[in-house]
Amino acid sequence: MIIDRTHPSYQQVHSLAESGLTMFVPMRLGETLIGILAFYAQESQEHFSDEQQVLAEAMGSLAALLIERERLSMTREEAFTRELAAKEAAQQMDAFLGIVSHELKTPITVIKGNLQLAARKLLRLTQGVASTEDDMESVKTALTLLARSQRQLGMQTRLVNDLIDISRIQTNSLELQLNLQDLVHLVQEVVEDQRMLTSNRQVTLHTSEQELQVLADGGRVEQVITNYLTNALKYSESSKPVEVNLGLEGAMARVAVRDYGPGLTLEQQQYIWERFHRVPGISVKSGSGIGLGLGLYICKQLIERQGGQVGIESTPGQGSTFWFTLPRVQT
Ligand code: ADP
Repeated sequence: MIIDRTHPSYQQVHSLAESGLTMFVPMRLGETLIGILAFYAQESQEHFSDEQQVLAEAMGSLAALLIERERLSMTREEAFTRELAAKEAAQQMDAFLGIVSHELKTPITVIKGNLQLAARKLLRLTQGVASTEDDMESVKTALTLLARSQRQLGMQTRLVNDLIDISRIQTNSLELQLNLQDLVHLVQEVVEDQRMLTSNRQVTLHTSEQELQVLADGGRVEQVITNYLTNALKYSESSKPVEVNLGLEGAMARVAVRDYGPGLTLEQQQYIWERFHRVPGISVKSGSGIGLGLGLYICKQLIERQGGQVGIESTPGQGSTFWFTLPRVQT
C-alpha cells in the first residue's frame, strides 16, 4: 500500500516514522521512481540487518512491478471497453442505415410504379380522346414533367441502393452471385445504356477482344462500370468524350474508363476510395450534382471481393483513368 498525504493513515504512519527506526526503499521501474516503500522496525529493534535491507529492496522492486502490471491491465481493460463501445456504435449505425435504406426504398418503388402508370395512361390519351391542340399541349407538358420526375427518382434510387450496399458491406452480408460472364458483353451493355441516357455525350469503346470470360457477379460488375462511366461523364464538360478500354493484363481482364475532366493530384487520389469521401474543389460539370461519396468505395469492395483490383491514373488538368481488373477464366 502506498500511503501519501491524502491517505487516512498518513498521520499515524508519519508519527510512527518520527518515533522509531524506519527504512525507506525506492520502488523503481527502470529509471523511473514510481513510489517509496517504508519499513518500520519493532520497538525492540535497534537497527535493520543486511538481510532485511536486501529483502526490503527486493520488495521495493517487486512492488513496482506489481503496480505497473496493475496499471497496464487497467489500461487494457479501458481500451477493451472503448473498443466494445465503438463496435457497438458501429453496429447500431449499420442497423440504422439498413432500416433507413429499406424505409426509403419502399416508397420509391411505389412512386416509380405510379409514375410509369401515369405516363402510360397519358400516352394513351394522346392517341385517343385528347384531340384539341390545347389538350395535346397539356399532355405533352405532363409527360415532360413525368419524365423529369422519373429521372430524379432514378438518382434517388441509386443513392438508396448505395446506402443499402454500404450497410451490407459493413455488416458483412453482401452476397455475390458468381457465374461465368463475358466481360466484353457486360461492358458493351453498360456503354449502350449510357449512350441512350446521355445521347449528347460521346462515349467510345475500344477493345480487340471478342470475348473475355470472368467468374463474377454480372450485375455487380455492371454497377462498377456504370459508376466509373457516370463519374467520368459528370465530372467532365459535356463537350469532352469519354473512352472505355477493355483488354488483357497478364492473367487479368482490365476495364479502364478515361475522361478529360479536372484530373486529380496524387494527394487527392489517396482518399477517393474511402467511404463518404468527396474531393474538395471537384465539382459536377454536367448532369446531376447528387453524390454521397460512396460509389468508388462500393466499387472497390465489389471488385476486391471478386478477386480483382481497382486503381486510378490521373494528372491534374488532363483527366483521369479509373480502372479495375478481374481474374480471367481460360475456357
Ligand atoms: P460521388 O457520388 O460523390 O461521385 P464517388 O465515390 O463515385 O462519389 O466519388 C468520390 C469522389 O471522387 C467524388 O466526389 C469526386 O470528388 C471524385 N471523383 C470521382 N470520379 C472522378 C472523376 N472521373 N474525375 C474527377 N474526380 C472524380
